[in-house]
Parts: sequence; structure tokens; C-alpha cells
Amino acid sequence: MEIENSGMIVVKTTAKLTALLDRNQRDGKQVGFVPTMGYLHEGHLSLVNQARQENEIVVMSIFVNPAQFGPGEDLDAYPRDVDNDTKLAASVGVDILFIPSVEEMYPQRSETVIKPGPIANVLCGASRPGHFDGVLKVVLKLFNLVDPDHSYFGLKDAQQLAIIETFVREFNLRTTIVRVQTCRESDGLAKSSRNVNLTLIQREEAPVIYKALQLGLSAYKKKNSNSTIKKIVANYIESESSGVIDYVQLLSYPSLSTEMKTDEDVLLACAVKFGNVRLIDNIIM
Ligand code: AMP
Repeated sequence: MEIENSGMIVVKTTAKLTALLDRNQRDGKQVGFVPTMGYLHEGHLSLVNQARQENEIVVMSIFVNPAQFGPGEDLDAYPRDVDNDTKLAASVGVDILFIPSVEEMYPQRSETVIKPGPIANVLCGASRPGHFDGVLKVVLKLFNLVDPDHSYFGLKDAQQLAIIETFVREFNLRTTIVRVQTCRESDGLAKSSRNVNLTLIQREEAPVIYKALQLGLSAYKKKNSNSTIKKIVANYIESESSGVIDYVQLLSYPSLSTEMKTDEDVLLACAVKFGNVRLIDNIIM
């Protein structure tokens, strides 16, 4: 079924999507792609804004991908509001909004596993086994369906971005990955669909994450050791909030190696749980 929304086409089937984006049909026009899990916020919209500037056709997908959620994770609690997302996507100039069902994306039991290497064993990959297998599976399917010239990903999910860049490079996928800076609330909290699941008190506490990362940054500039920097970040979060730390880590970026490489950036990243809500954030130094 197709709904017109101020020029935007909403597509629910892979057949319709591939027909619309057929290379012969698109007449040499550049296609920019923004994959999301919906419950859109300004972070997602900043990806669209950049895609809008650099492409003639902008495609967004909204799909809460079960393959990237482990048992006991928040798949059911993941916030959803397709009607509002549709309005927001249209308002920022998305041309094609792809909203498939789970059955549409995974019509059969999957027999193939895509496994990233050690780059997926650190940070979120360490506490969410199989998470990035699920991410790569859906990303490859979406890339094959959309066939985008440029694909836009947020640095907020820095590990995801590094794994996808590696995947694209190693398998000669024809899309170019574009990195987009993290969009934040005025108090510094990184915008996230999950923020809505915080209680009022947790929401008040959550900006400690970004403040702690900035303390880490100044300690880094003062040439403190990696372990001191990590302690400073963790101590601040633990002393100033009820957040429970999953990890605070300093890695070379984008290789995500613990050995700092002179030709790479330094990533300071953390994951903190407020009740059942797991928030991640990072800065690249
Ligand atoms: P999600 O819907 O959370 O899977 O995110 C979809 C895309 O939006 C991913 O590439 C994210 O990295 C990106 N994204 C999420 N939050 C932000 C943010 N606060 N700023 C910039 N990009 C973001």
C-alpha cells in the first residue's frame, strides 16, 4: 500500500521499494539513505538534512530489527510511533519512507550468519553478543534493496559506524558511508529514542554521561593515562547519579584497538544503565 504525504511515498514492501529505486528508473540521480529504528528525533533528522543536501533522492527506513536484540533486551519496550514518524520524515523532505513489517524483511527462517570480527567484541559487542551480527544482516539487506550512493550513520553509535565502514570496505559494497555528528539536548544528553523510557529522575541524572565524557576529555588533554581517564569518567557518573556503568573505554578509532594508533582518533565511549534503559555516548578526541 502506498500513502502520499506531501510528496513523500510510504512503502511497505520490498518489491515496491526495489521497483521505485531501480537503477534504470532513477535516471542517474544520487540516492541518499538513512536507516533508522524510528521514534524519530532531531538526531535522525540531522542525518536526513545532510542526505538532503547531498542527494537528489532521500530514502529513510524505519524498522525495529529483531535480529539485533538479544533475549531479555528491550525489543518489546522499544518506543514506536509510526504516524508521528511519517509526519516528521515528510517535514524534512524524505522522498521515500520504507516501513516494512518483520515478515516482509524476514519471510523465512534465516540460514546465513554475518559475523563481524574482533572489532565487534569490545564496547557494546562485549555486553550484547550477536548484536552486530543482527545489525550487519539488516544493513546488508537494506543496502541491497535501496542500492544507495550514500548512506548516513550517526557517530553516537560509533562502534556500529566503524563496523559498517569495515564491512562496506571489505566486501566492496558500492555505497559510501557518511559520518554524522551526535545531536544533543541542551543539557548535553545525546538524543536517543530510548530517552523517553527514562523516569523523570533518571532523565535529570542522565546528562552526567556527557559531563563525565568532557571531564575525560580535559584529563586526556592534560596527558593523563588511559586508566586515569577511565576512572575519572566512571567515578563522576557513579558519584553523581544512580546510573550503573556497563563500560567506560578508550580505544583507537575506527579500528577499536586498545593500542592507540598514531594515524587514528581516540574514542572515549561509555554505556550506562538507568534502570532498564541502557544509554550510550562517546566523544572522539
Ligand atoms: P536508531 O534509530 O537509534 O537505530 O538510529 C538510526 C541512526 O541515527 C543511526 O545511524 C544512529 O547513529 C543515528 N542517531 C541516533 N541518535 C543520534 C543522535 N543523537 N545524533 C546523530 N545521529 C543519531
